[in-house]
Amino acid sequence: MATDNGLRGLPSVKSGLGRSRFHTLDASDAMRLSRWFGAPQADLAEALGRISRSAAEEGFSYAGREIGRSYFLNRGRPRVCPHCLVQHGYCRSAWDFVLVAACPQHVCALEDRCPVCARALDWNRPSLMVCQCWSDLRSWRPAAVDLHSLELAFARWVAVAVAPASIDQDRGSAVEAGQFGLLRLLRPLSLGAGLSLTYALASTAEYSLGMTGQRVRKKTSLLHARQVLQAADELVRRISEGQPIALRVSRRSVTLALLYEAMRRAKCPEDGSIALSLLSHILRQGGRTKWTGRYGQLSQMSLF
Ligand SMILES: [Zn+2]
Ligand SMILES: [Zn+2]
Repeated sequence: MATDNGLRGLPSVKSGLGRSRFHTLDASDAMRLSRWFGAPQADLAEALGRISRSAAEEGFSYAGREIGRSYFLNRGRPRVCPHCLVQHGYCRSAWDFVLVAACPQHVCALEDRCPVCARALDWNRPSLMVCQCWSDLRSWRPAAVDLHSLELAFARWVAVAVAPASIDQDRGSAVEAGQFGLLRLLRPLSLGAGLSLTYALASTAEYSLGMTGQRVRKKTSLLHARQVLQAADELVRRISEGQPIALRVSRRSVTLALLYEAMRRAKCPEDGSIALSLLSHILRQGGRTKWTGRYGQLSQMSLF
């Protein structure tokens, strides 16, 4: 809207609102933006989401969906699919979820760094389609991803949850997602419950995070997203195969809260049982920071 109205990108909108360049626009800005540009306030509020600190009490939401934590979203370090920008001319809200690292429509990785100036892509850019160095985002060549990869299956689950009509659901989706235990668990869950469960599984998983084997500090990086997904899926796979599992719960309070949220948001009792099983194991283990078992012993076994 800023570009179409001759304003120089988001920075000039923020300064017009009296906001700092570090402010993340959200639903609380919708009324004034609606007056400026004429777009319906409700549409703007839904697109911007309720993600500021003041939204914490009512619950965070994004793209019209309730989400448990504001850190499920990555509004500071944007990612794009260049092919989508060419084809649709807008950015998709699904790209703003930290764990979405790929475009299910074009089977490519999302890009978050400019290949010309090598800087991280930033929302404070001259227009939607150009980097701060004026390189056109639509000319970028994203890396391909494996059609059968976990990150693509997960990105498809988020895309369907956010905007069902945006995704051709026939494109091999159900069959391919079925090979990942994590995706089988997520399918019946709401977006918020599924994200809570994924983070809870990843944060208790004791296994190597794959690739570099190191935890990535930057929580908004694409590598971090891939590692969280791998860790969560690996834990589910071990449980489903009856392998011994080890839960690391040094971040116990966070894990418990995430599991509780996943359980509470589940649409039916069965959906919540994996979360409930993990929750009860962690509670029973008391002050110990590790729980190991010969088998997963989870009531959800029949699901796998
Ligand atoms: Zn795309
Ligand atoms: Zn650039």
